Amino acid sequence: MNIVLIGPPGAGKGTQGRFLIKNHNYDGIITGEILRKMSGDGTELGDQIKDIIDAGNLVPDEMIDSMMTDHLANIEVNGAGLVFDGYPRTLAQAQTLDGLTTIDKAIYLKVNEEEIVKRILKRGQISGRADDQDESIIRTRMETYRTDTEPVLDHYKGQDKLVEIDGTKSIKDIYAEILSAIGS
Ligand code: AMP
Repeated sequence: MNIVLIGPPGAGKGTQGRFLIKNHNYDGIITGEILRKMSGDGTELGDQIKDIIDAGNLVPDEMIDSMMTDHLANIEVNGAGLVFDGYPRTLAQAQTLDGLTTIDKAIYLKVNEEEIVKRILKRGQISGRADDQDESIIRTRMETYRTDTEPVLDHYKGQDKLVEIDGTKSIKDIYAEILSAIGS
């Protein structure tokens, strides 16, 4: 079973994805983590990625598409399946992913903007991420989410794969809902 986790930044995708990886034997593909690693590698490409992330914008689709095509060609799946956190974030990425593998469920964690701003500012105190520490960058990320990522919800709704979960519930309740949605 391959699962996509969708939702605004700070909705809890990372937390829930980690549970699936640790407790249910999923392999995780976490684009933000891959990109943050690249952004610190001292190359020109790394510097470009860092500037994009720090500004709260999305890395261009062509770059993500080639990164994910490579990644999926090289990954060996022996466990329960793949869980994608932070990908796809645009309709074009969702279409590319459809050509790369089969997605069984898209779990949408719904959280309102004011709660997101509060959560990310708090996370920023621990994560140290520049993009988590500045309210205007967080609001840019929300705007990007609304414009570029929300259409992905309709994409999976049209395929009858979308499961909407109230992301303001407790972490435990959300996890239980995810498990029930994926039939575990
Ligand atoms: P995240 O850790 O998922 O919040 O991602 C941090 C940042 O990495 C995002 O704000 C984007 O700049 C970039 N990023 C992560 N995933 C993607 C993606 N699928 N497409 C484009 N940019 C991405």
